[in-house]
Amino acid sequence: MKKNLTCIVCPLGCLLEVEQEGNEVVSVEGNGCKRGRDYAVTECTNPQRVITTTVRTQDGYIIPVKTDKAIPKSMIFECMRDINSLCPDGQNGYTVGDILCRNILGTDANVVVCADVRKV
Ligand code: SF4
Repeated sequence: MKKNLTCIVCPLGCLLEVEQEGNEVVSVEGNGCKRGRDYAVTECTNPQRVITTTVRTQDGYIIPVKTDKAIPKSMIFECMRDINSLCPDGQNGYTVGDILCRNILGTDANVVVCADVRKV
């Protein structure tokens, strides 16, 4: 089976033609570098995404968060449910990189703060 993908690893957006047999990728064409081939293999066999969203703190602040690495696409809804249940209480505000949840759902990804938030 042949699939066409757009590589999202860098802004060049190479158009990839992927040939797959079962769950195995047998060829990738159109990639400008090795990262494109790696992306195509992962996307066709175990697609993954970084989650970016927001969390409401105990005192009503809305803070941007993301997973610090990609998680399996099949777990996004489950992860969102757990992220939505977070209700942190950063007494002194939040700093980029603060970890709100370690190893979410055993994925090895942490949920981290993406912006400095100072309480007023
Ligand atoms: S294949 Fe390489 S050069 Fe092309 S978009 Fe992907 S990362 Fe960029």
